[in-house]
Amino acid sequence: MAIIPIFIPHAGCPHQCVFCNQKTISGQKTAAVESAKEQINKWLEWVKSSLENEAAFYGGSFTGLDLALQKELLALTDELLSKKIIGSVRLSTRPDYIDEKRLELLRAHGVKLVELGVQSLDDSVLQKAERGHTAQQVAEAVALLKSYGFKVGVQLMVGMPGQDFASVKATVEQVLALQPDVARIYPLLVIKGTPLAKSYEAGEFEPLTLEEAVRQAAYVYRKLSEAGVKIIRVGLQPDDELCAEGNILAGPFHPSMGELVQSYLFREELTPKILEAANQNGEAVLILCPRVLESKVRGLRNGNIKYWSVLVAPRKLILKGISISKIKIICVSSNDLEEAATQD
Ligand code: SF4
Repeated sequence: MAIIPIFIPHAGCPHQCVFCNQKTISGQKTAAVESAKEQINKWLEWVKSSLENEAAFYGGSFTGLDLALQKELLALTDELLSKKIIGSVRLSTRPDYIDEKRLELLRAHGVKLVELGVQSLDDSVLQKAERGHTAQQVAEAVALLKSYGFKVGVQLMVGMPGQDFASVKATVEQVLALQPDVARIYPLLVIKGTPLAKSYEAGEFEPLTLEEAVRQAAYVYRKLSEAGVKIIRVGLQPDDELCAEGNILAGPFHPSMGELVQSYLFREELTPKILEAANQNGEAVLILCPRVLESKVRGLRNGNIKYWSVLVAPRKLILKGISISKIKIICVSSNDLEEAATQD
């Protein structure tokens, strides 16, 4: 399966959320269609046709675009659908730009998944971020999308102005009630040129530390995954524009935020089991895990290993990735350690 990404940066967005570096693009109409064509053609050089493939309009608020422009853009993906190069289309938009007329159009053009920029379902947080919509509008948009048979994605943030962990947890509960299909989780960053940058420079806003952002994002990740919501991204894509020197003024940026969050979740999940194993007879705690998980269990720069090693000291702690399907934690004697650690 391949995704053909088509970026329409900030097109269709009538708002200025405090954290977004929205740019006014002159000649937007021509630029959006021409740029979309170019992007598609570039991908067509290597994408193999499959009904599993998807075209994805990213950036901006698709359904906020002028109707004629939406049709022009969708005509590009119609061609891919008719040639069976792709099987479906997805896009992202704002919750307050969802109505019957717009959804009729999307349904007629093979759109199957609509992602909503939700960020929070706490009205006071939405207001402080100047999102320009309410939690109620999100609920109505999700209900309408579902009634039209669309899959629904939600994009959520942690670390917004006025948003504490309790507010994040309350949002998660409300999101679970909406039963989305997929979600993205973004820790908020202070980006140059945004209204938030001014507040930050005036000492009126303090972003989350990386550690706290990982803790909160991990909570959202775990709760949504447990409910069957697929997490399709954690953290902003570390592309050239985002990472340009001086662009991120402050905030919990890490190019592998998703990996940090998953490692944190392994730490939470495995710590009681490791402590239990450490109470058994033996000189070493051995964690055997599927090879594909080894780096996540280990944590960035061995962070989890160092953490657990302190907990089980003076016993040794050893992690080994082998061909098994489930993580196994055992306490072994020095005599058995070599044999246990070499099993595969
Ligand atoms: S709605 Fe989206 S694109 Fe528009 S300003 Fe807010 S974050 Fe940026």
